[in-house]
Amino acid sequence: MSSSDFRDSVKDLLSNNQFRIKKHLGQNFLKDRNILQKIVKEAKIDKTVGVIEVGPGLGSLTEYLIDSALKVVAYEIDNELVPILKNRFSQADNLELLHKDILSVEIDKDIDQYFTGCNEIVVVANLPYYITTPILMRFLESSKKVNRMILMMQSEVGMRVTSKPSTKDYNALTVVINYRAETKYLFKVPKTVFVPEPNVDSAIIEIKIRNFIERKPNNESFFFDFVHRCFTQRRKTLLNNLRDSYSQFDRAVWETLLIDMGYNPTIRAEALSIDDFIKLSDRVDEMINR
Ligand code: SAM
Repeated sequence: MSSSDFRDSVKDLLSNNQFRIKKHLGQNFLKDRNILQKIVKEAKIDKTVGVIEVGPGLGSLTEYLIDSALKVVAYEIDNELVPILKNRFSQADNLELLHKDILSVEIDKDIDQYFTGCNEIVVVANLPYYITTPILMRFLESSKKVNRMILMMQSEVGMRVTSKPSTKDYNALTVVINYRAETKYLFKVPKTVFVPEPNVDSAIIEIKIRNFIERKPNNESFFFDFVHRCFTQRRKTLLNNLRDSYSQFDRAVWETLLIDMGYNPTIRAEALSIDDFIKLSDRVDEMINR
């Protein structure tokens, strides 16, 4: 089957099922066979791997995942898509289709239930862009069992996720994700491979969860919150963001702390490495909770 045959099949699925695309659910369906094959190749899936798919849509990616993986669990929020998918994949005995909002799922509980016998758990998805960040945070903060993620997201978010300190894209999301994972911007994807075309450019990003985190903050949930506070207003200095966030301490306290830790008091949050954030978060946690 050629790439153009496949395009028709997405079109056919839409018209045969009289399906009206719901923009508010981030529905941009993949119609290009080459991109689908590339995604699955990058995901390095074999018959020992369990795959979680977020938002199977009409099943374009699901079809490939079922072929390659031992087991696929796909979460779809749109109740109109569920019967279409059930009908399309009625023969697939390694697919569990769950009509659920991914943001309300207890991921590790479902992994225990559905992925017995899998050596690795990989999330593969063309994400709904209106909730890219909450989905990333959900997997990183509430799962200890996912090993890797291969995700289509907005190129702009992908640049943030994979950026380095002192660059314009580096922000709280970068720090929190790279604390738990190694990230890589794999490739950019043109708008033309989707129906309908999204307004923004897209990219495939790889996120490999670290087996072992060498340096951990004393209090992880304080650390996550602290990092967000440091970046509250990007154009402000770190000192000003700290002073606004923790108003019980005045400017002089923050100035002394930053100088004491070897930083210039005019430094901005984007200049700090993950290790810097961990050290600073531990000190501030002590100050606040002592
Ligand atoms: N995987 C399909 C493809 O590549 O053609 C569809 C991808 S589309 C970008 C995103 C999908 O996520 C849609 O099917 C949408 O209905 C679904 N979705 C949106 N919000 C969701 C949520 N909170 N939980 C689960 N699925 C969601």
